[in-house]
Amino acid sequence: MNEEARARSFFERHFPEVAAFLAAERGGGPAPEFGPTGLQNAHDDQPEPHVVVRVAYRVSRPELFAALAAGYATTNTGYDPDVLTVEEIRRDVEGFLADTSALNLSDMVEEVARQVQSGRHPEQMAALLRAMNRAYSPVTTGEGNVRSSAHAAPRYGDGTVTLQTIDHGPVTFECPPWCIGHGWQVGAGIGRNDIVHNSVRVKASADTFSHGYDTVLRTWMAWAPFVDLVPRVAVELDLTGDFEAEEVTHLAGVLRTAAGRMEKVAAEAIRARGEVL
Ligand SMILES: [Zn+2]
Repeated sequence: MNEEARARSFFERHFPEVAAFLAAERGGGPAPEFGPTGLQNAHDDQPEPHVVVRVAYRVSRPELFAALAAGYATTNTGYDPDVLTVEEIRRDVEGFLADTSALNLSDMVEEVARQVQSGRHPEQMAALLRAMNRAYSPVTTGEGNVRSSAHAAPRYGDGTVTLQTIDHGPVTFECPPWCIGHGWQVGAGIGRNDIVHNSVRVKASADTFSHGYDTVLRTWMAWAPFVDLVPRVAVELDLTGDFEAEEVTHLAGVLRTAAGRMEKVAAEAIRARGEVL
């Protein structure tokens, strides 16, 4: 199981109510997942690959059927659909979803290159380049070679993780089962004290006419094992503005929901403390 699946199953086991709520908020219960069956947008005239970006599409039955019909039309028209293998069928669907975005992408590559050349929005472009490097970080190895972060991904051993730090070199530490993993810290130039186990984030949101959809609360367990003795709870509360009186009634309800979720995460942190001490 990968780190994300591990975190998700742990979360669903220990926070069943919150997990069910989040699933409902995302638009329904969990849907079965298929794929990917292959790598998309891999073609001969492509420049040197830099990273592999995985995306997952949630589709309705009509969308699924449309994707299959369109994908079949471009790749498998010579074949009777009844004899296509399951893998071929899924490839048709994934291929269509990927191709539609890849077509836009190749147009955008030229468009963005033109914008950079013409010197439009230079500061924003430089900032976006920094953002890309932060999220898809090339990592410098000891020999001065730049490798993609995929090769420098945290190594997961027997419940332990090894991360590269700027002050202590490779640091190996135990990772609690509720941690979502440390892929997000790779290549960020972190020190040993920056290593943090984070749990899944729990949110509470308000939806008002005056201010639209707004996340009022974000809370999660956070534990910097080289700084903190035990897991703590990170809380971000944000609510400011003038509202209609009825909306304030709604906000009060959101705050009660938020309070309940904060207490759940706090209870979880106290329980996790028992595993540490
Ligand atoms: Zn961790």
